[in-house]
Amino acid sequence: MPTAIYQKYRPRVWAELADQNHIKTTLEHEISRGQITHAYLFVGPRGVGKTTAARLLAKSVNCQNRKPGVAEPCNECEVCGRIQAGRSFDIIEIDAASHTGVDHVREHILESAEVSAGHGTYRIFIIDEVHMLSTAAFNAMLKILEEPPAHVIFILATTEVHKVPATIISRCQRFNFKKIPADAIRQRLRSITQAEKMNVDEEVLNVIAEHSDGSLRDAESMLGQVLALGGKKITMLEASLVIPRSNLNEAANLVGLILKNDAAGALSLANNLVEQGISVSVFMQDIIVWLRNMLLAKVGERLDLFSRDTLGELQSRLLKDAVGVSAREAQELIDIFLRRRQNLGESPLPQLPLELAIIEACTLKADGMES
Ligand SMILES: [Zn+2]
Repeated sequence: MPTAIYQKYRPRVWAELADQNHIKTTLEHEISRGQITHAYLFVGPRGVGKTTAARLLAKSVNCQNRKPGVAEPCNECEVCGRIQAGRSFDIIEIDAASHTGVDHVREHILESAEVSAGHGTYRIFIIDEVHMLSTAAFNAMLKILEEPPAHVIFILATTEVHKVPATIISRCQRFNFKKIPADAIRQRLRSITQAEKMNVDEEVLNVIAEHSDGSLRDAESMLGQVLALGGKKITMLEASLVIPRSNLNEAANLVGLILKNDAAGALSLANNLVEQGISVSVFMQDIIVWLRNMLLAKVGERLDLFSRDTLGELQSRLLKDAVGVSAREAQELIDIFLRRRQNLGESPLPQLPLELAIIEACTLKADGMES
């Protein structure tokens, strides 16, 4: 059960697709009006729903029961059933990053694009990590895209669009997928735990949401590990066995001490954490994330947009703490931690770069930066 959370709760209809509303709206509109194009390009970070959207699109256009003016697939007809189970002959999924990907595209696509799909349905090629294809494979695809057979649809997905030839991009309708806000991820995790009838502390879901960096897939697989722990109620204590401990709170504490110019307090906090076995690298990253959020809080207007990686109490703390720091100060502090973090690998003592960064940051503060 637990490892399969991601597959088990893969959205079956558009309404279940997490976030990405701009994409949903456009695609639903095109599907319901029958204005399908021959090539789509889904761009965006990993785990944000590109493949899921591709499969939904494939299911919607091929669903036997779908009526004009409706975008959602019925999920009851034979075609829907086959696609849901990953057993449709008309949906060809290719992972271009895999060893066989390149040859696959050339032979598979060139040949099977000529063969028409069954029952007046579309033959749909979903090519994941399409930027990994060889020039030869791209050329083969380009040939088809120039004069696409009526029954063929390409859905190309990539995390690195700059590696996709411009000639391909220009023939596709492009959709930019975004990282999913922590709050949307948390809601999704909550609905899964309810469906699984598991009692998981809100704090656990918050930490997973914050740590997944906008990737729903990562969040769901982390949740799967947490649920595998079993038990009546899963608290942070149990969950900390499998999920990385959030240090954003500690990072916020440390930044607070630096802003008070309390070098001794900051160093002692850092040493306590090191003794508890935290990763210095991850912690310095947390500090940088916290400072970045502060900086954005100083210059940004849309608080909800930039602070969406932080939730609840942490978010109100961020907004409160940001009042006491100037944008320039936040920027210089980020520079210090970024620079010192680069020395982590060559430092004889793992915590030394962190300590030096703290001292440097406090010196900066003492040298009379306005706050
Ligand atoms: Zn159907």
